[in-house]
Amino acid sequence: MDTKYIFVTGGVVSSLGKGIISSSLARLLLSRGYRVTIQKFDPYINIDPGTLNPYEHGECYVTADGHEADLDLGHYERFTNIHTSRANNITTGRIYQSVIDKERRGDYLGKTVQIIPHITDEIKRNVKLLGNTGKYDFVITEIGGTVGDIESTPFLEAVRQLKWDLGRDALCIHLTYVPYLKAAKELKTKPTQHSVKMLQQVGIQPDVLVLRTEKEIPPTMLRKVAQFCNITPDAVTQSLDAPTIYRVPLLMHEQKLDQIVLSKMGLPSDGEPDLHAWMDFLHKLEHAEKEVRIGLVGKYVELQDAYKSINESLFQAATYADRKLRLEYIHSEKLTPENVASRLEGLDGVIIAPGFGQRGIEGKFTAIEYCRTHDIPTFGICLGMQCMVIEFARNVLGLDDANSTEMDTKTPHNVIDLMEEQKSISDLGGTMRLGAYECRLTPGSKAAEAYGAETVKERHRHRFEFNSAYRSKFEEAGMKCVGENPDTHLVEVVEIPEKRWFVGTQYHPEYQSTVLSPNPLFLSFINAAIEYGDTKNKDN
Ligand code: GLN
Repeated sequence: MDTKYIFVTGGVVSSLGKGIISSSLARLLLSRGYRVTIQKFDPYINIDPGTLNPYEHGECYVTADGHEADLDLGHYERFTNIHTSRANNITTGRIYQSVIDKERRGDYLGKTVQIIPHITDEIKRNVKLLGNTGKYDFVITEIGGTVGDIESTPFLEAVRQLKWDLGRDALCIHLTYVPYLKAAKELKTKPTQHSVKMLQQVGIQPDVLVLRTEKEIPPTMLRKVAQFCNITPDAVTQSLDAPTIYRVPLLMHEQKLDQIVLSKMGLPSDGEPDLHAWMDFLHKLEHAEKEVRIGLVGKYVELQDAYKSINESLFQAATYADRKLRLEYIHSEKLTPENVASRLEGLDGVIIAPGFGQRGIEGKFTAIEYCRTHDIPTFGICLGMQCMVIEFARNVLGLDDANSTEMDTKTPHNVIDLMEEQKSISDLGGTMRLGAYECRLTPGSKAAEAYGAETVKERHRHRFEFNSAYRSKFEEAGMKCVGENPDTHLVEVVEIPEKRWFVGTQYHPEYQSTVLSPNPLFLSFINAAIEYGDTKNKDN
């Protein structure tokens, strides 16, 4: 069959969860046996979100091919179990860069380069890039931002043209918000009508509406929206707030979103998607009674999205272990030797978060020392692993001023140092060690046991690394390097085998944990935390 293109736009307000709706639809189509991918087009000028502060844009997600991506790609992978790539995330910056490069090469043969057709053609080319590989039946394209934004106008123009070119093979789902006015005790559809009008003004007639709401919208009101917006009544659906995002595919299936899309695109819509494995996960999630209490030590604790993939990985692992995740954020800047015991009290396990720069670093050392000496299951990720190494150097090896050259360029003991290949790099964007690399694990190590494999592939995002000159000193004192890159011998995993569970990874296992295939290292960490919590309770 010809590739079908589904566009997801948003209206009224941002943060409605276009990513979750796109991912849920992808899940439903996949579960019906179709081959699906999702891509996100972001209307900002940055080439990618890699240089953005987490306060601006939440977590930076990393794809296997080393693209620093919008965090929605994390949702896409967690829902679909399919790897995304550089081609799945395009920004206005990338579009312009490519057009300007072509202009400089003379590709436009002396023509004046304009938004229409040159920028819109480049957007259209990128929309179809994945579809043209022949690997997908459906390409779902989420358009970032809200209809009416100046920035997204060229993207909407490209969608208008594609809908015209592709006919029934293209479809637009518009996501809007229906507010409930407490004082009037009424749901209001006017903002939705206006946002659809705005889409119509740029020449796009949405085919399906998804109305986000906190209260159930009555059928009469849905019919009214259909009438005002030129949409068939069956295609006006609602998406009520859900207790967990992982319920949304089922809720949207109840709303018949998958059937509506299929029938509007001329495909058979009978039969049911096979959601067994998904429902098993939800069943576990909704029936877990006991808790597992995990602390996350980091400096972006006031920001929900900064550690998105870690949160979700922990949540998935806890669910598979039949526990409710109780995640507590611990601000690394506020952690001191005086308050560490009370702040970490009662936790079953501790995550030392990734990050950049000096701020909050001493609090991470304090947490690690406490966890190491009290044998609390501890998982250090990227900067978290580097901090484990530094803390060990200072407090076990007696190398007082040991540090990473990221924090102190003049440290006498650079146990973490800038990677050789990084020394000549001055640009910040896209220049870290990025993407999936192979890692060989020491048989018998906790990491190897967790994966049940001796070679794994996980994703990276860093410039600094364990300084191998110190390797034997660490190993003799009990911190083992149990994972290394087979080609470069860079140390990727450290652990203290004599501890319950004390493991640090230079890579980010959280980028490869999905609902249907949770990351083994997170599962192992959560199991160790549960076991530790249970023994603690028995002792008390
Ligand atoms: N700042 C550290 C480095 O660049 C760790 C990065 C991270 O935690 N992602 O090596």
